[in-house]
Amino acid sequence: MLSARSIHKRYGHLEVLKGVDLEIGKGEILSIVGPSGAGKSTLLHILGTLDEPDNGSLLLNGQELSRKTKAQLSDVRNKHFGFIFQFHNLLPEFTAIENVCMPAFIAGKDQKNTKIRAEELLGILGLIDRKNHKPSALSGGEQQRVAVARALINEPQLILADEPSGNLDSKNAAELHELFFKLRDELGYTFAIVTHNTELADMSDRKVTLIDGLISSF
Ligand code: ADP
Repeated sequence: MLSARSIHKRYGHLEVLKGVDLEIGKGEILSIVGPSGAGKSTLLHILGTLDEPDNGSLLLNGQELSRKTKAQLSDVRNKHFGFIFQFHNLLPEFTAIENVCMPAFIAGKDQKNTKIRAEELLGILGLIDRKNHKPSALSGGEQQRVAVARALINEPQLILADEPSGNLDSKNAAELHELFFKLRDELGYTFAIVTHNTELADMSDRKVTLIDGLISSF
């Protein structure tokens, strides 16, 4: 579904990615592991079109993304990718359900249907009774599950997660990981996850290791 070919990226003199090739198939849970500073976040950002490679190509369902304009890319990102970060990045002044609805409103989707879908998602994630709470009134695990619902609201083809359980205790982390598998098994979602969590990496369908700017194992 998403294919990255010979991705290169440098920051000044630092060559962070030295020709990364990676295929992500529909319905798989892929973990990207490796030491700090190896370029995992940089790669994830490039896969999600949040950052541009210096060289190489990125194809979504065979369509070359590097030829698109900034506005077209922003549209692709909004409609086809969902993002989950280590720190949930919820908007503090909005309630849980408002945060979940935000990407759909940005996509110009119908308000009523979006709210219905947001409630369904909050239900699936066990958060329906927390929907009118602002992030500050939610626990860390709940905040991260709201971020998951927000990532899913536009029914993305791929969910990109950067250390999603990095800020959670082990119980909440395990629950979040189980949730990813439930979403894959029951709703067919695809995940690419940068993680230091060995349990999650070992549970994944596939684990790739990024070392010194290259993928070193499949
Ligand atoms: P990882 O996620 O594997 O820890 P990163 O992708 O965050 O690694 O970073 C890889 C390297 O690139 C690090 O040395 C980091 O300092 C550097 N780097 C990342 N983003 C930038 C940036 N915007 N400007 C300069 N250097 C950066």
